[in-house]
Amino acid sequence: MMKLGIIGWRGMVGSVLLDRLNECGDLDIFNTTLFSTSQTGRGPLGELKSSFDYDALASMDIIISCQGSEYTKEVHPLLRGKGWNGHWIDASSHLRTMKDVPIILDPINRKDIDAALKNNQKDFVGGNCTVSLMMLALGGLFSRDLVEWVSCVTYQAASGAGSAQLRELFSQIAHLKEMDLSGDILKLEKEVTGALSHSSFPIESLQHPLVGNLLPWIDSEVEDGMSKEEWKGAFETAKILGKYIPVESLCVRVGAFRCHSQALTIKLKEDLPLDEFENLINSHNEWARVIPNNKADTLKHLTPVAVSGTLSIPVGRVRKLSFGPGHYSLFTVGDQLLWGAAEPLRRMARIILDFKNQGLRRDYELSRSP
Ligand code: NAP
Repeated sequence: MMKLGIIGWRGMVGSVLLDRLNECGDLDIFNTTLFSTSQTGRGPLGELKSSFDYDALASMDIIISCQGSEYTKEVHPLLRGKGWNGHWIDASSHLRTMKDVPIILDPINRKDIDAALKNNQKDFVGGNCTVSLMMLALGGLFSRDLVEWVSCVTYQAASGAGSAQLRELFSQIAHLKEMDLSGDILKLEKEVTGALSHSSFPIESLQHPLVGNLLPWIDSEVEDGMSKEEWKGAFETAKILGKYIPVESLCVRVGAFRCHSQALTIKLKEDLPLDEFENLINSHNEWARVIPNNKADTLKHLTPVAVSGTLSIPVGRVRKLSFGPGHYSLFTVGDQLLWGAAEPLRRMARIILDFKNQGLRRDYELSRSP
């Protein structure tokens, strides 16, 4: 049985990954060990190992790290330096900019993943959550090379920032719940808004109120007035597709708990009728589905609450725009902890297992051939 190590199993991504491994029966086909940087003792799968125990790490065939970029920066080169030759699959962004490390999103780039494995590539990295969700939503358009450019405005959930931030959003809500909500509405609004900027309001992790607010900047500043999250849109799309397509993003953190939503304006190279546009989206993969562009279906199916905890990537509000031929707009929602993070990692471990098994079968067949 292949040995699988999971680092960061109790964080947002790691815990969703563990759930998926369990649901999909993967825990029966891998011998799985959980690692932690801060916990010792027993975890859900037995004895926890230290994430800095290099001997234990080196005994793994596959490591999935959901710990974060700082951990990867420190431990990955040291482990490779000690001669470890297993497969490393990472959720954090650190390895994404490395030229030879493929960003994995197998419904979009399975061929490249297979080619990399055959080429003895051992490091793989999951994509940025909004980019992966956008690419799956538009897979049918990208696969036909129809996209001239995309403009994305994102509405990203608190859990996208990590478990501490989501917990803090809950405590911000709880903080407001303690207020007297009766009485004159304008007076109440003033009091609640005042509470958001009071020194007792919990903002240690998020740095700002997120309840009753939104934050139009995610991650660090890069260049040209862009946030790093926005920069990733163009960079990662190009890396996954193997060619540059202009993607401009404006990324906003909102008070949703889970799921990233995106409003996309798209220019296609061809002026397709709307039904053809929708058919391309529906037929590309089993998760992206067009929702009829009416109020009832939109509000029932195209919200973070409707999508949370599912692999569905609904694509709605699809319209041709008055800007000219080939211009469309749409709105899409996806669970950033599933298709935006844990699911490509889980599937990659299975792809590696299949690849190894094929190799073993091939070796066996060769050893039996006359
Ligand atoms: P997270 O929830 O902050 O968890 C990271 C680590 O924090 C955990 O593995 C855990 O490690 C530690 N931790 C400390 N106290 C904790 C507590 N009370 N509850 C849970 N964990 C605690 O981070 P994350 O959102 O999973 O992100 C991990 C990596 O994936 C990051 O690089 C992130 O950029 C990337 N990513 C995240 C998302 C997302 O939607 N969140 C999507 C795509 C990629 P120990 O057990 O070792 O202490």
